[in-house]
Amino acid sequence: TPFRAVVLTLFPEMFPGPLGHSLAGKAQADGLWSLETVDIRAFARDKHRTVDDTPFGGGAGMVMRPDVVDAAIAGSYPGEGPIVYLTPRGRVLDQPLVKDLAREPAVTVLCGRYEGVDQRVLEARGVLEISIGDFVLSGGEAAAIVLLDAVVRMLPGVVGKTESLEHESFETGLLEHPLYTRPQEWNGIPVPEVLMSGHHARIDAWRRDQAEDITRQRRPDLWSRYVAAQKQEQEGRS
Ligand code: SAM
Repeated sequence: TPFRAVVLTLFPEMFPGPLGHSLAGKAQADGLWSLETVDIRAFARDKHRTVDDTPFGGGAGMVMRPDVVDAAIAGSYPGEGPIVYLTPRGRVLDQPLVKDLAREPAVTVLCGRYEGVDQRVLEARGVLEISIGDFVLSGGEAAAIVLLDAVVRMLPGVVGKTESLEHESFETGLLEHPLYTRPQEWNGIPVPEVLMSGHHARIDAWRRDQAEDITRQRRPDLWSRYVAAQKQEQEGRS
């Protein structure tokens, strides 16, 4: 059965957006996943369709009401899979978390607006809080698109074997090596000679060296994890 994504938002017109194009769009057309967008405002009860109110305790901005958000979840939860709330306070999204989500039958994604969502409904619904990075967006919709884009490409059958995911950034614990295509010489700069050699073992070794250099220079955090994992692997072998 196809993977189901349910997005709860005050701005349903922002979807599918990028998720309707290219890889994710084609995968949806192929029936590998589905996207349902739910308008939270449709679950407001008063005649003004109010979804937010001022924060208790004072302070700037507005807070999304728990009763409205809860009704939206009750009316749209597919019956399986986690309910994700996108928030800067959440666990920062990374490739292992993306893969975990791609193994779920469904993911329900709650997009915040204003200052965020009343704490009580987050706890009552046991939501999984996820951040897409240490910065503040104006709403959860862009984050939902980022999250689902990353999850959809990990669904079985979405990325073809030829485009193999194995050597991508993070899969090996390293950032990717530099890429080159035609023309073989551009702006007076030739493609590194080893790539033209047809010698696969040398090419692999060169790419690994490059990936290691880039990771060491740019991401000391990834590099120390990689070195530790390599060391453990060696100890396991000896
Ligand atoms: N008052 C919140 C805070 O200080 O943490 C920021 C609220 S933000 C203006 C509005 C909404 O955007 C949030 O409820 C959340 O859904 C979304 N959002 C903002 N930054 C995000 C991030 N880094 N990752 C995921 N969602 C984010």
